Amino acid sequence: MVTQIITAYNNSPSAVTAAAALLRAGECVAFPTETVYGLGANGLDEGAVAKIFAAKGRPNDNPLILHIHDFAQAEQLWTDIPETAKQLAAVFWPGPLTLIYTAAPCVPAIVRANLPTVALRMPDNEIALHMLRAAGLPIAAPSANSSGSPSPTSAAHVMDDLNGRIPLILDGGACHIGIESTILSLCTAPPTLLRPGAITREMIEAVIGEIGLSPALLSPLQQGETPQSPGQKHRHYAPNCKVKVISGEPSAVAARICELYEQSGQRCHIAATAENAPHYTGKQYTTLGSRGNPATLCANLFSLLRAADCDLLLMEGIDTSGAGLAYMNRVLRAAGFDGERV
Ligand code: AMP
Ligand code: MG
Repeated sequence: MVTQIITAYNNSPSAVTAAAALLRAGECVAFPTETVYGLGANGLDEGAVAKIFAAKGRPNDNPLILHIHDFAQAEQLWTDIPETAKQLAAVFWPGPLTLIYTAAPCVPAIVRANLPTVALRMPDNEIALHMLRAAGLPIAAPSANSSGSPSPTSAAHVMDDLNGRIPLILDGGACHIGIESTILSLCTAPPTLLRPGAITREMIEAVIGEIGLSPALLSPLQQGETPQSPGQKHRHYAPNCKVKVISGEPSAVAARICELYEQSGQRCHIAATAENAPHYTGKQYTTLGSRGNPATLCANLFSLLRAADCDLLLMEGIDTSGAGLAYMNRVLRAAGFDGERV
């Protein structure tokens, strides 16, 4: 299969029309969102959804998020609409928040990975919303990467992973958030945060009050523990090198990273915060952004994980409040939870 890339900046109508026609014909299309690129297919068509799993090499026990452009679609896809969903959608949709609730009978089992629930999100990206409107369907879409590799934040990343496996990539430029959506389950009382993202725990709690946190956000599942979200048990964001995370007081972190860099005898690279970058002069490093602005660290993370050309990537840990929780969730998973506190 030849994979075509069409530039879709400025809401190019022909790009969106081509994508919608392919989706309606049961094919897959990669498209930009504000979080990461998605690999979409008709979420009501089992055969179309099966093509997503095949193109990505995704384990079939890992369910997909259905993308919608109108809140009224949620009424068709969930059994009913909980009050918390209405409150959260009013504040955060379109936006990087995925909500999970009991699925209506029309949602195919392959989308839900046989769970009784389905995840819904309205993306905050003009190209994605135009495409969803033109297709007129709920679009199942996981990240448009090969399963296990870092999520794609540019059309070039999608091409690197899926060239020859899908017919079309809509190029909408770089994704400005750069990590996947926050996932909140509304099936528990109180609701449970299953994956942290740009919509933070604090932002959600300001709308609906206290929520629970999945125990697997910053640590691996314990033996025998059932994941609350199937994605928690799969390896994620793995670059082609070993990753180690050093957390603690910033200057102690820099000192330990320099020590590991000198001692390792391997080709090392450092993922630096702007505050600590001066400590790494003369070493190989990339500055991801300021510790004070975890959103920028998140936006630059997956490009670095894809580009890292080294044997050992040494990463700085940061504080886990606000968007820091989402950053540390991805960083620790990329490292296979190889972390050290100093
Ligand atoms: P991705 O779109 O590639 O970021 O993957 C979607 C994530 O949402 C995965 O981690 C899934 O496990 C999670 N997910 C999707 N649907 C459900 C659901 N019904 N219940 C729990 N987790 C879900
Ligand atoms: Mg993914």
